[in-house]
Amino acid sequence: MTQVSISRIHFPVTTLGPGRRIGLWFQGCSIRCPGCISVDTWDAGRNLVDAADVVDRLRELSGSCDGLTVSGGEPFDQPDALAEILYGWRRHSATPTLVFTGREMQDVAGWFDVHPNLVDVVMTGPFRSDLPQTAALRGSDNQTLHVLTERGSAFRAYDRVAGVGDRRLDVMFDDVGDAWFAGIPARGDLSKLRRLLAREGHSASTSASIRETVR
Ligand code: SF4
Repeated sequence: MTQVSISRIHFPVTTLGPGRRIGLWFQGCSIRCPGCISVDTWDAGRNLVDAADVVDRLRELSGSCDGLTVSGGEPFDQPDALAEILYGWRRHSATPTLVFTGREMQDVAGWFDVHPNLVDVVMTGPFRSDLPQTAALRGSDNQTLHVLTERGSAFRAYDRVAGVGDRRLDVMFDDVGDAWFAGIPARGDLSKLRRLLAREGHSASTSASIRETVR
């Protein structure tokens, strides 16, 4: 039985691909891009669960979803679990799967050779805070969208300059009262949000700022 470290599963996510998608965030990232806003997903080995249980949860959510988006953390830090989950997902859904990875295509091409047609679309490349962010669905313009199957063809529309609609974020609240965001914020948006909340007498921290505090 394969164990996998998962940060969270959420439905619906409307900002990481077309339609109402299931979001699956892997826990653990060895890439550690400077300026990453998902620092809470860096530590490996937390929230270990059976990959089969992840598949069961995805199946429960699959009825009305338009696809699955896998992000992190770094999904390819757990390549066997990623494959097991996506084979399980394929048994339940024919909707398109998008995977975000901080690795370059040449670094993960071997995985795709072994598991053809399992992923429909992949966004490759690390987040680079020193580069511009003008393209839709990307945190920085070095990231490359690869449409691998016909099922993923709707994603070709994301090879565009980001418009206002691409700057939306999904906001969710955890049971413990923490709020978190899904989507690709524009540069400086989270700082703006903190300033707006501070003006109203509220405080807010991103996972990056929390990590800076506890170090
Ligand atoms: S942006 Fe992605 S790949 Fe880069 S450190 Fe953050 S989670 Fe890892």
